[in-house]
Amino acid sequence: MDYNIYHLFPQLLNLYGDKGNITTLCYFAKQFGLNPVVHEVNDVADIVWDDVDFMLLGGGSDREQAIVTAKLSEIKEQLKAKIEAGLPLLAVCGGYQFLGNYYQDSQGNKLAGLGILDFYTVGQTKERLLGNCVIETTDFGSLIGFVNHAGETFHDLEPLGQAIVGYGNNLESKAEGIRYKNLIGTYLHGPLLPRNPALTLFFIEKFLQKNNVAYDFMKIDLTLEEETRASYLNKIGVNQ
Ligand code: GLN
Repeated sequence: MDYNIYHLFPQLLNLYGDKGNITTLCYFAKQFGLNPVVHEVNDVADIVWDDVDFMLLGGGSDREQAIVTAKLSEIKEQLKAKIEAGLPLLAVCGGYQFLGNYYQDSQGNKLAGLGILDFYTVGQTKERLLGNCVIETTDFGSLIGFVNHAGETFHDLEPLGQAIVGYGNNLESKAEGIRYKNLIGTYLHGPLLPRNPALTLFFIEKFLQKNNVAYDFMKIDLTLEEETRASYLNKIGVNQ
C-alpha cells in the first residue's frame, strides 16, 4: 500500500535538515510493509489532496518564508479542510509559524499567515532562541531537538509539551509547540523524527488506523534509537 508523503517546498523549507524527518518516516513505514512515495512539491497545483497521507512544512529563513507565504496562501482553504479532517502534519519552526495569523519578522515586516490556528509570531532582537531543547510531553515522552529562531509565538491553545531544557514558544513561556487534531507544530529541528521515534510512530499509526491495516509496534526494533536518546539525555543531564 502506498504511503504518500508530501514535502512542501523542499528547497525553501528544509532548515537544519528537516528533510531527515521524511527519510525517517520512509524507513519506519517500510517496516510496516508500506510503500512510501515522497512528493516534493514546488508547485501547489501538483498536490493531489485526496492522496495526501502525511505533510511536512519545514523551517525556513525570513527570506524563504517571504517567498513561500504567497504560494501557501493559494492552498489555505484546502489545507485547513484537510487539517480539520485529521491530516497528519508536521510543521517545524517557520512551517509552524505559517499556520498562525501572522509572522512579523525582527525588521518589522509582517507576513500574513494562513490563519488556520489562532496564534501569532513576532520576531525580536533581544535574544535568539538557539540551542538544544528537551520537551516533556504527555503522549510522546521526552522530545529531543534543536532550535534556532528569532520569532516568539504566542497562543493559549494546547501546546505540544513543556520545555525542561531550552526554550518554549517564546522567551517567557515554557509551553512549546502546538497540538491540534493530528497536526504537530514545533520549533524543534534536529531533525525531529530520527531522534523521537514515538512521534514518528504516532504519524504512521494514524495512517494504519485510517486504512484498517493491522500492526504491532512491539515488532519494531528501537534499540539503536533508545540507546542514542539515553546517551544524549544523559549527556545534557536529564534523568529519565
Ligand atoms: N525565520 C523564522 C524565525 O527566525 C523561522 C526560522 C526557522 O525556521 N528556523 O523565527
